Amino acid sequence: MITKNLKIGVIGVGHLGQHHVKHIKTIKNVDLVGIFDLNSKQASKIASKFKTTKFESKSTLINKTDAISIVTPTDSHYLIAKECIKLGKHVFIEKPITTTIKEANELIKLANKKKIIIQVGHIERVNPAILALKPYKIKPKFIEIQRLAPYSVRGTEVPVVLDKMIHDIDILLSIVDSPLKEIQANGISIITDSIDIAHARIKFKNNTVANITSSRIAKEDIRKIKLFQRDLYCTIDLLQGLTEIYQINDNSKVKSNIQAPFNYKGNKKIITYTKPILQKLDPLRVELHNFINSIIGNENPIVTGENGRDALSLAIKIHKLIKRETH
Ligand code: NAD
Repeated sequence: MITKNLKIGVIGVGHLGQHHVKHIKTIKNVDLVGIFDLNSKQASKIASKFKTTKFESKSTLINKTDAISIVTPTDSHYLIAKECIKLGKHVFIEKPITTTIKEANELIKLANKKKIIIQVGHIERVNPAILALKPYKIKPKFIEIQRLAPYSVRGTEVPVVLDKMIHDIDILLSIVDSPLKEIQANGISIITDSIDIAHARIKFKNNTVANITSSRIAKEDIRKIKLFQRDLYCTIDLLQGLTEIYQINDNSKVKSNIQAPFNYKGNKKIITYTKPILQKLDPLRVELHNFINSIIGNENPIVTGENGRDALSLAIKIHKLIKRETH
């Protein structure tokens, strides 16, 4: 039984890392040991804002902790996580886990050997709009996902598939319980040297088909998912926090207030509309709670290192196909 507070540090305190600091600072039974960032000015700003210690050396911080949140650009995740895991520290790694499968596998192997928790920050898994699907039997046969965002230099160290589409790939893999069958993908580069807009058509062995579009060159943020299956259609707005479910029922089974009757081949049916009330929660805080509870043995990580590796693997396949198509 762990009786003393868990000691956590944050490496990388830019746009997202500062929110890790904010939450860890206020979670019970946890001590925020301090922060490290290559940008000393940024580290000083965040240390003073959240009244924590700014470390001049990454290794000194790691050595003083039980666990580390790694919130640096993706191309640095592997080396930082490896250093932490080798020293027996649990790691929360922001998405994507790494930039290559070889790196992800190496971290997973090392963590298993050392009995270390790896959790990956695929935050949409705990988006209330996704959590609202739990009571429903979701087995979609056709899926449409769209994630568009205005250009930002953040995230451009990796192609759009690894920065944006990977969120939806992780959701897709958590919803569809079937191996991959076939992938088609296209994309183009607009601003960066890499792919900025990507589209993938993913077919699974159970014949489920998913169409995913991701762009980092858009006028406004859009994050929408549509799920279609026999007798059910569901739309999810991840950004607005809205889940709407349309189901086809026999007359006798209806519970919803909003319904529309219709006739098909002489049978009376009803379309019912349900808008589940979404939980009010901060997804990052939920992820961090889950990380802490996983370390103390009360929960399992919602997104494991293996889940992060699998999402990365599909993302890399899609990106390679796009590169092949564009050359
Ligand atoms: P950012 O550029 O705003 O911040 C990164 C910080 O890390 C900077 O302050 C930088 O100085 C520092 N840094 C860079 N290399 C470092 C190193 N080797 N050691 C220590 N510090 C280093 O980036 P961000 O938007 O906060 O993204 C960070 C990570 O979080 C990325 O992996 C990104 O994909 C991920 N992210 C996830 C989500 C999500 O929804 N889960 C959202 C945004 C970003």
